[in-house]
Amino acid sequence: MSFWIEHYQGRPKLLVVDDQPINIRIINELFRADCDMHMATHGEQAIATSKTLQPDLILLDIMMEGMDGLEVCRRLKSDSTTAAIPVIFITAKSEENDEALGLELGAVDYISKPLNSAIVRARVKTHLTLKLQNDYLKGLASLDGLTGIPNRRAFDVRLTQAWNQACREGGTLSLMMIDIDYFKRYNDHFGHLLGDQCLRQVAETIAQSVNRPYDMAARFGGEEFVCILPDTHLQGALTLAKKIQHSISQLAIAHPASAVSEQLTLSIGIASLMPRIGSEPTELIALADKQLYQAKNNGRNQVHCPPD
Ligand code: GH3
Ligand code: MG
Ligand code: MG
Repeated sequence: MSFWIEHYQGRPKLLVVDDQPINIRIINELFRADCDMHMATHGEQAIATSKTLQPDLILLDIMMEGMDGLEVCRRLKSDSTTAAIPVIFITAKSEENDEALGLELGAVDYISKPLNSAIVRARVKTHLTLKLQNDYLKGLASLDGLTGIPNRRAFDVRLTQAWNQACREGGTLSLMMIDIDYFKRYNDHFGHLLGDQCLRQVAETIAQSVNRPYDMAARFGGEEFVCILPDTHLQGALTLAKKIQHSISQLAIAHPASAVSEQLTLSIGIASLMPRIGSEPTELIALADKQLYQAKNNGRNQVHCPPD
């Protein structure tokens, strides 16, 4: 089965929820060659599995002992971690009224029992393809087109998340603002195409330097980059900034028009704080920006941070 998704290499995850093992077996047979199959035989299990597994599609029986499929769907749709997972109801002939209700609850489709293999395959394929395409586009929308690292939009989202988490847990959040020195002159000297290539190299180097799971390196705009460093104190951020400067110097990108070095250099501003409830993440951006301005003013090719 092909899902018409460019570059898609994984196997979609399908969760089948039915209290009759025979129905699960039939559906398993239809899809096990193309999908990772998972099952749940009651409502609570379906909800728990959906949260941890994050399936690409759920096939949900309506009539089940205990919590019925409609209630399962209602709960999945009201939880932000599972609301976006598409649900297809499986309904018996006698449940036609439930079909309309199910669609109102946010299900994308329904399939009637007795199951017809061709119809089940076609509907599942359609909705899996839509889900995977949607994931792919969402991924693209958060990446910078030139450098392939997260873009400004993704940065804004992550900074807010990191800010809120630090507010709840009382952690220190650090932010690094990185700006290439005399980059306008680099473009003027070598042309914009080589300028673009240089931006890609710098982006890749910064992204590779930042490797804790919740850290993020992003392109802030133009020749400016940012790193979000949750649970990181000023000293840790300073060490990372020096490491980035060192890695860039290792690239030895010639920059004859620079007034500060023969090679491409960076100026970096760092700020750290413990976010308080009621404050805004823009506070941290402004602080890091001020430090970057200082680094530029003090002669460029350096890291600047407030006294610890
Ligand atoms: P400073 O040391 O003060 O930071 O000087 P600068 O020249 O780096 O800073 P300025 O803000 O004056 O110029 C930034 C330049 O970055 C302007 C533009 O030519 C270049 N730039 C911004 N975005 C891109 C891009 O996507 N591709 C290329 N090639 N250049 C870009
Ligand atoms: Mg700049
Ligand atoms: Mg610059």
